[in-house]
Amino acid sequence: MSFNIAIDGPAGAGKSTIAKRAARELQFIYVDTGAMYRAIAYGLLQTGTDVEDGQALAEALSGMDVSIGYENGEQQVYLNGENVSGVIRTEAVSRMASTAAAKPQVREMLKNLQQDLARRENVLMDGRDIGTMILPDAQLKIYLTASVHTRAERRYRELVERGESCSLEEIEADIRERDFRDMNRETAPLCQAEDAVLVDSSDMTIEEAVQRILTLARERMQEKTGDIE
Ligand code: C5P
Repeated sequence: MSFNIAIDGPAGAGKSTIAKRAARELQFIYVDTGAMYRAIAYGLLQTGTDVEDGQALAEALSGMDVSIGYENGEQQVYLNGENVSGVIRTEAVSRMASTAAAKPQVREMLKNLQQDLARRENVLMDGRDIGTMILPDAQLKIYLTASVHTRAERRYRELVERGESCSLEEIEADIRERDFRDMNRETAPLCQAEDAVLVDSSDMTIEEAVQRILTLARERMQEKTGDIE
């Protein structure tokens, strides 16, 4: 049986960086589910689909096939066979991903893909509803968060390093808005699973957060092996 780790939390908590490193250390497959929502969002933007029109959304989705693969250990996401990993990190795609992710049709489309991967492999899967909806039986669940201010500052530094002009206030407002949408949507809202361990990374370095997750994972794996023996 595969060992599954679910990591959920809001945008900008450092989830993907932390999860990716932890997965590498554990030799688990890292699955970034946000990238799948982003690939769909990219497709919806490309086709100019009105996501509020249920029929138009259904039609657009029926023409989309999302899959993932790995190149040099890095997850790549494909939309209809085309690698879209390089074009899904824009603010426009972020906003559309959060809007589209509130639609049950979109979530349903990705659920099977995510559950299938977890059945076959030891995965460390990061998202918003992994511990609550996708892998309710994951052997370890982590809710990784950080204060809005810390998350905005991290994002701000990232964008400045990339040479993009931005304002800290706008980023903070954007994060608040995205949190609100993710936490208050009817379908699979972002929330901490009852049995998830809370890790607040506001005052931690990336490395400290990775170590915390590795410790939790190793403890849990030992317990599980103990259960079998
Ligand atoms: O994690 P990332 O910021 O790349 O995710 C983009 C958007 O996709 C999020 O704002 C969220 O609305 C949505 N998402 C989701 N469920 C997941 C992963 C991402 O609703 N499991």
